[in-house]
Amino acid sequence: MANQSSDIVIVGGGVIGLSLAYRLALEKASVTVLEKGQIGQEASIAGAGILAPQAEMDQMSPLTELCVASRSLYAGFVQEFVSRTGLDIEFSKSGLLYVALSETEQIELGKRYQWQRKFGLLVHQLTRQEALQVESGLSPEVRAALFFPEEAYVDNVRLLEALKIACGLLQVRLVTGCQATSIKSEGPRIKGVNTNLGLWAAEKVIIAAGCWSSMIDSPLPYKVPIKPARGQLIAVKPPALFLKHIVYSANGYLVPRRDGRVFLGSTVEWVGYDKNVTLEGLHHIIFWTLAIFPEMKSFAFSSCWAGLRPYCEDGVPVLGSAEIEGLYFATGHFRNGLLLAPITAKLMTDLIITEKLPKLLESFSPTRFKPN
Ligand SMILES: Cc1cc2nc3c(=O)[nH]c(=O)nc-3n(C[C@H](O)[C@H](O)[C@H](O)COP(=O)(O)OP(=O)(O)OC[C@H]3O[C@@H](n4cnc5c(N)ncnc54)[C@H](O)[C@@H]3O)c2cc1C
Repeated sequence: MANQSSDIVIVGGGVIGLSLAYRLALEKASVTVLEKGQIGQEASIAGAGILAPQAEMDQMSPLTELCVASRSLYAGFVQEFVSRTGLDIEFSKSGLLYVALSETEQIELGKRYQWQRKFGLLVHQLTRQEALQVESGLSPEVRAALFFPEEAYVDNVRLLEALKIACGLLQVRLVTGCQATSIKSEGPRIKGVNTNLGLWAAEKVIIAAGCWSSMIDSPLPYKVPIKPARGQLIAVKPPALFLKHIVYSANGYLVPRRDGRVFLGSTVEWVGYDKNVTLEGLHHIIFWTLAIFPEMKSFAFSSCWAGLRPYCEDGVPVLGSAEIEGLYFATGHFRNGLLLAPITAKLMTDLIITEKLPKLLESFSPTRFKPN
């Protein structure tokens, strides 16, 4: 397959690479996605589908702003794929209940309430009784809760399917079994990507390779420091519809699905590229789940799995252009890549097409890793 070419090559066919490919193709660019395995089968399919900046973020920051902006784009983002593909992606603005089981957790919730109100985010403080009216199966140990009406979830498996179809409809080339090994450049300009299938020539290359993003060699004087953070999840099948909202605690979360299943998660583990499900991981998830919903102990186990989140060493995504003209990064989304897909696609497309840096991206540039 030597000497293939495209205006734009995206390395990585996860939710980030596909969302960006779709948005760039809408701008009439010729786009190719190179994927070392199968499309969408890594972190993006393993995720729980929660779209929850207010539950995930501990303070106002550029990342919080980015997450909130992305959540506000989600309904429109999903609707685009529903109308293009006819697939029901199961986007639900279910709201999220964040419970406290100890005094310390209750104090933390109080702080979260204060800073979010200060920045005008919608959140309600609930007593134990009020929390029980939101989700009736809660343990009597729950002391208080916050309710975030704008938090939502999406069925990420269906979203990936829709993204793949929508990319196909816009003539995006999805090349599977193609592993990028190094960036090819001439002087300050990019020329393409070397792969196991030969050179893929391109004027612009975007690295969206998830937790493998730092493994692609480049002439840059630094590596973008991304590493894998394993997360394990369990699905259970309650006998009747059990959960109406997403439920969080300091130790993990539960997410409903329309077919009645409930996903329980998750772990954050630093075990390299090991994607095994472990008894320790399952034990951790089951232990804290039963502390919140004791009656779940009789629910039928459905399945379990693990995935590798892309974590950047400063905890913040890497979004923007690097010192080689035509080279971009869109990676390091860690726990929030499904949430951040719409805003990443939109702002990175603006940057690539106009070559002007959108204000919301200013804090995320890969050039922050340049040695002094
Ligand atoms: C258990 C778990 C729960 C999660 N829950 C949520 C959640 O509820 N909400 C949320 O917003 N986020 C969640 N996340 C995080 C989210 O899934 C990730 O942030 C997101 O999927 C990252 O997308 P990506 O496209 O960057 O990476 P990936 O989906 O990993 O895609 C990267 C792709 O690049 C390919 N690739 C890598 N190297 C190369 C190469 N050299 N050449 C070609 N292809 C290459 C890989 O094969 C892969 O397909 C969760 C993650 C996990 C694991």
